[in-house]
Amino acid sequence: MIYTEKISLAQALSKRRENSDASKPSIGFVPTMGALHKGHLSLIHKALSENDLVVVSIFVNPTQFNNAEDLKKYPIHTERDIALLEEISKDIFVYLPMVAEVYGNHVSSAQYLFDGLDKVMEGKHRSGHFDGVATVLDKFFKVVQPDKAYFGEKDFQQLQIVRKLVEKSGLPIQIIGCPIFREDNGLAMSSRNERLSAKEREEAAIIYETLLKVKEKFTTNTLEELSDFATEQFLQNPNLELEYFEIVNEDTLKPEPRKTANIKYRAFVAVFMGQVRLIDNMLLN
Ligand code: AMP
Repeated sequence: MIYTEKISLAQALSKRRENSDASKPSIGFVPTMGALHKGHLSLIHKALSENDLVVVSIFVNPTQFNNAEDLKKYPIHTERDIALLEEISKDIFVYLPMVAEVYGNHVSSAQYLFDGLDKVMEGKHRSGHFDGVATVLDKFFKVVQPDKAYFGEKDFQQLQIVRKLVEKSGLPIQIIGCPIFREDNGLAMSSRNERLSAKEREEAAIIYETLLKVKEKFTTNTLEELSDFATEQFLQNPNLELEYFEIVNEDTLKPEPRKTANIKYRAFVAVFMGQVRLIDNMLLN
């Protein structure tokens, strides 16, 4: 069923909860910006397997775009998305609000403190992005009141920031991270991939290939050598423009001076392939 207003969604959820056989039916929530692909669907299947009720939101959130052109060109396939969701389960609550329903007349972000998690990588290169993400999630969490919310490791920095948001605001929501779903050539699935030409899609496999090589070299090379290696691979490739490559502690998202036991190191990359910005990441140890 599709809901375009928060009031009708909240009412439908509470009615379904009252009529459920379970004493306290659990709600799983999967927020998306639509143009659904198999990566999104993997989160939705997980949510369906772990909860009594599942809400999927489809909303291209304007406040998280730092680039007007990127927002304008963001793919929208509402009918196809709805058909896909109905194929999976007729029981999914689809929340499909308009911008005015979410923001009223003030399309703006609140300001958050994420203990520095928002100051690096995506935060550094996409000013205000995470305040926009947190603003819309705050609003959606209040309407949906999920027990569990599902986020992809594709946007690993976002996942850590959402964990921090929930921790700081004391919301009783379990945040579930889900593995990155990839094309056959290793390219991380993304709604933005459809803006790539067939040739660009093929060439973008270098992102995954390089991350894999860095992982393979992890035990035998220093962090600096690994960063130099990856940066060189990307800079040498005429088809893409490197924005950043970083190896950081996956909990703090900060670089470490050297390898230390018990720290999880994760490599993060952002590149432009023509006009399209692509991100990816991989756990190295
Ligand atoms: P988006 O519609 O891009 O905002 O993504 C909605 C959710 O799907 C986010 O939690 C993303 O991290 C997740 N997601 C997007 N692409 C993938 C992927 N290739 N694998 C796993 N999760 C993904």
